[in-house]
Amino acid sequence: MTTTLLAVLGTGVVDASTPVARADDAGLIRGDGCFEGCRLRRDADGHVSIDKLEAHLARMSRSAAALAIEFDEPAWRGLVDEALAAWTGEDEAAVKLLLSRGSASAGVPSGFVWITDLGPDYARWRRDGITVVSLRRGIPATAFADAPWLLGGVKTLSYAINMAAAREAERRGVDDVIFVSDDGVVLESPTSTVVWATGTATDGRTLHTTPTGDTGILGGTTQHRLYANAAEAGWRTTYTLAAVDDLHAADAVWLVSSVRGPVEVTELDGKARVRMPEVDAEIRRLAGF
Ligand code: PLP
Repeated sequence: MTTTLLAVLGTGVVDASTPVARADDAGLIRGDGCFEGCRLRRDADGHVSIDKLEAHLARMSRSAAALAIEFDEPAWRGLVDEALAAWTGEDEAAVKLLLSRGSASAGVPSGFVWITDLGPDYARWRRDGITVVSLRRGIPATAFADAPWLLGGVKTLSYAINMAAAREAERRGVDDVIFVSDDGVVLESPTSTVVWATGTATDGRTLHTTPTGDTGILGGTTQHRLYANAAEAGWRTTYTLAAVDDLHAADAVWLVSSVRGPVEVTELDGKARVRMPEVDAEIRRLAGF
């Protein structure tokens, strides 16, 4: 049985089937809002928390500011605490924090916390890795330069293209997608950051990911923590504008996000990759998984 929990901004925990949006809610009809996808953990003492909660709230606050939507942080902290205290499901779960501009008639933002058990894909991906196809994103790598209205790096609700790409992956018989700019630069995945490793244990290993900023990609909280921990553990960490061929040449490639963690890419555009179990295990540990 899937356990779900719903807590509504301004109301608190309600029955999970309670309707949360009015027909004129801007988040619903225009994707005008933002969200966070987080990982819930229950520790050995039974304490339930959200991994990297501070990073998620900070990014949600930045997203809301970019959209000019009020973000009442104390209210959100209270709502999250209430939702976590009421969670009776598995020891690991997915949490969505969703903030919408709300309905024009109500004139205030709407939002909710939604907690669900992890789907079956996560265990398989973490164990077996992930097969991936690269797909054109239809924009150059500098598409977001000097254009804040394009909302680069903002985690908006407008994910229809991301979800269409995920369906295209399914249609092609693979698990996920890496978006590539029209000038051939590796960008990100529809719901995760691309990270890859080069170098050897003796010469020193380097982690790479795509820079945010002009590329418009989302700065990942998991990649950020991975980089901080990897740097402390002696890895070099860099931001690299790379081509798909660079990923083929890398020692290991991961798709990295808060709920799935780092999952190693085992096939890219039909080419199998040799897995690096020891490096993979270290990356997972450094990312907190
Ligand atoms: N890039 C995109 C487009 C995403 O949607 C996500 C997460 O949902 C990420 C990257 C990874 O971000 P995080 O590590 O903060 O979950």
